[in-house]
Amino acid sequence: MADLPKFNAYINGASVPPRTNTYFETVNPYTSKVWAEVARCNEADANDAIEAAYGAFTTGEWPAMSATQRGALLRRFGDLLAEHADELAEYEVRDNGKLISEMGPQCGYIPQWYYYFGGLADKIEGSVLPIDKPDIFNYTRQEPLGVVVAITPWNSPLMLLTFKLAPALAAGNTVVIKPSEFTSTSTLRFVELFAEAGFPPGVVNVVTGYGAEVGAALVEHPKVAKVAFTGGSDSGARVYQSAAAGLKKCTLELGGKSPNIIFDDADLDDAVKGAISGIFAATGQTCIAGSRLLVQNGIYDEFVRKLVDFAATAKMGDPMQRDTQVGPVTTPPQYEKILQYVQVAKDEGAEVLLGGGPATDRPECGDSQYFIEPTIFGGVTNNMRIAQEEVFGPVLSIIRFDEDDEAIAIANDIAFGLAAGVWTQSIKRAIKVSNAIRAGTVWVNTYRAVSFMSPFGGYKQSGLGRENGIEAIREYLQTKSVWISTASDVPNPFVMR
Ligand code: NAD
Repeated sequence: MADLPKFNAYINGASVPPRTNTYFETVNPYTSKVWAEVARCNEADANDAIEAAYGAFTTGEWPAMSATQRGALLRRFGDLLAEHADELAEYEVRDNGKLISEMGPQCGYIPQWYYYFGGLADKIEGSVLPIDKPDIFNYTRQEPLGVVVAITPWNSPLMLLTFKLAPALAAGNTVVIKPSEFTSTSTLRFVELFAEAGFPPGVVNVVTGYGAEVGAALVEHPKVAKVAFTGGSDSGARVYQSAAAGLKKCTLELGGKSPNIIFDDADLDDAVKGAISGIFAATGQTCIAGSRLLVQNGIYDEFVRKLVDFAATAKMGDPMQRDTQVGPVTTPPQYEKILQYVQVAKDEGAEVLLGGGPATDRPECGDSQYFIEPTIFGGVTNNMRIAQEEVFGPVLSIIRFDEDDEAIAIANDIAFGLAAGVWTQSIKRAIKVSNAIRAGTVWVNTYRAVSFMSPFGGYKQSGLGRENGIEAIREYLQTKSVWISTASDVPNPFVMR
């Protein structure tokens, strides 16, 4: 396939072929065709990238820069991203099949992270302590960690990368990125803009390839100070173990099985849209999917009828068309996994209210082999696998409840704790329930909102640490305490000061 575009790794400011000169294919899920080849990096490439990042952290322009200068570079990068937002959105859609109607605005919004963290770079202050010792001046500094490895999944490559990259760079670290093997190309185009913005070579690097081949080598590398990972819980656990073996800092953004709770006093039309947005937006391939819909008994029949009617109108098709509402599943293994879960739900006795299989005989789905009908299961109980395990696809499980406390108990009876939705017109109920839910994000009368300024992360097995907001930059800093003696002579060296 000599005429396919080839994407190399990006190391020390240059496009670099993999050491073994081998490439893997990347597929457009809508056409189901290979459209490019991407460098299959291994441990040797990982070493090169880490050495480049380590060199850029320890010597040259980057460590000599003031926080104000770093902030200015980040804001310049944000401007370049804004100029290239449409182009980057098209890369994302081609590789992951998400809708252009979502990825266009998302890529247009990403620059805000670089403006926000660029502005924050020179507002992180140490302190002078009123130390309890005579003749000592004591102050703290906030210092970067060193080389950060950022590992991302395929579902929102640039946004999830940005959650890591903007605070890591604002804090003065250097970064090696490992994007998903399914969606590497947008990241490779994106990082070229760092050189254009004036970042020194080696500050941002990318190696592409498989998790076990190159991702694991990055995490294990002794010169890495921190790993920032987004992905599935199983890979997250492996990354955490490996980081722990090297005593590296680690943040993890993992899976979810989020409850979206519809109370009987909710505005039902709004809540229907909230339920749809929770599970069918992005074809359900989001960590924050509201995949467990808890509906109160008094409104159950009316609500479920409205929901099924609305979901049945969802327009499937070409993700590049602005009126498409549900695109293809991104990867062949994910397609198989979703269908297996549909079968699991049927075998467990859940009732198919909508969909329930592959989307066949739909001309609007073109040649794609990866469309699945928006699927709704009724009659689900919280102990079923379909209620407990992350599907990561357009598959909704509806669970009935009577009392508020029962809804809270069901919502919390799960290993995950990433997000939740609450639909009610009662402010008392909204506050009581959102306080009681064990999840890192709770949305009331809305769903699937994120911002650069609001902390995001998981409770329980949904992750460790927080991204976004002021606290995110602390995940990329460490505190140094500096002691300066002002005494006229050195005190007794045999006793502690
Ligand atoms: P994945 O875990 O299979 O892969 C994620 C990344 O980790 C990829 O780049 C992969 O190559 C790499 N990887 C895999 N094994 C590795 C290892 N041993 N060492 C180093 N790197 C390794 O996840 P995915 O299928 O790409 O993404 C879907 C998952 O991501 C879902 O579970 C979803 O919930 C989760 N996710 C979480 C968030 C969040 O913010 N909490 C956001 C999006 C996606």
